[in-house]
Amino acid sequence: MKSNEMNKVLFHNLTCLTISIAAFLLLTSNAYAYRTDHSFLPPEANVCAAHVPVTLTIPPNSQAIPDPSKGEFSHGFYHIEELKDGLFYVTDGVYQIMFLVSNKGIIVVDAPPSIGLNQADPAASLTLVEVIYSIPETQGKPIKKLVYSHTHMDHIGAASFIQDAFPDVKIIAHRLTNKQLEKGTNELEGLLPGAGSSPPPLAHRVFSKAIKIKLGKQKLQLSYNGPAHEPGNIYIYAPRQKVLMLVDVVFPGWSPFSNLALAEEVPEYITAYDKVLGFDFDIFIGGHFNRLGKREDVIEGKKYIMDIKANALAALQNPALFQIFSILPNNGLGATAVYLDQMACDCANRTLDPNQTPSAVDWRSRIGNADINSVGHCWVMGEAMRIDPMF
Ligand SMILES: [Zn+2]
Repeated sequence: MKSNEMNKVLFHNLTCLTISIAAFLLLTSNAYAYRTDHSFLPPEANVCAAHVPVTLTIPPNSQAIPDPSKGEFSHGFYHIEELKDGLFYVTDGVYQIMFLVSNKGIIVVDAPPSIGLNQADPAASLTLVEVIYSIPETQGKPIKKLVYSHTHMDHIGAASFIQDAFPDVKIIAHRLTNKQLEKGTNELEGLLPGAGSSPPPLAHRVFSKAIKIKLGKQKLQLSYNGPAHEPGNIYIYAPRQKVLMLVDVVFPGWSPFSNLALAEEVPEYITAYDKVLGFDFDIFIGGHFNRLGKREDVIEGKKYIMDIKANALAALQNPALFQIFSILPNNGLGATAVYLDQMACDCANRTLDPNQTPSAVDWRSRIGNADINSVGHCWVMGEAMRIDPMF
């Protein structure tokens, strides 16, 4: 090997080593910096000192039904169950779909890549399609329609498996969902394991306000009532079975996923609870966990969100938290960031204290992940209240 080639190799190796050390240091420091150190603040303005303790205990109300740890998953690692009159739901414990069976075929709602561990190599993978056909009720009946609840890949990333198996399947989505899918670049393919052999196909039929779909005796009413989670997320209602599905908004028995479940418009997110309750449903499917919801769960979820809202307002008005602006007089945006972090901690501490929160509910022992997620909800809620003109 010539010396300049050796130098190149050496340089390459050194570069790799430097990057590795930098990455290690970055990861290590991140591991320590769970929450930014604000110890320079006076104690009364440093409400994050308590750090909203996380217990990792799952309250009884949130327990998975059935509980996978008890081996009750009926088909291996997923659970599949008929809720009523040919309407089934499937969960792997984290994600949920539903499908409706008629003598003319099947309507499927959503295609999360996690259900069935869909991998590019079909020989090494059980696909979502195989999961759906693992029960006698679906045998010999083709999937004729596929509905997208919204654009997020963790909920529809395995749609291509369905289209590969049933090329004539008709996909239905909101107009805004299709618009977002059209913009996809594929550049980040592979970040979500099992996200299909190709991106979710575009819908064949789109709508703006509402649409009814029918297959044999099965009917679904799809409607759009504003961006409860993101533009284009729809309410999916089965009137005969009185089952309502709305994904990534209400999490029965649980605190929503981080940051109000990534709600893009917080006021719309809050009003979605009442819009859900406006439907005549007996069973609610929220798209996550393996717990279904009833009306009481939606009412309780709303109560938790209203507590977050009230406590965010109280924290925003806490005069102790304004001290940061005199500590960092020449760094307005930095001070604002510290202020918002402290506001979120103050709000979360109030929310998790049954003696302070307006509902007087002990959320930590009532819903799962209240301890983990309240800080994030409070941050998003408080900042939206400060700057969102729709509040
Ligand atoms: Zn989503």
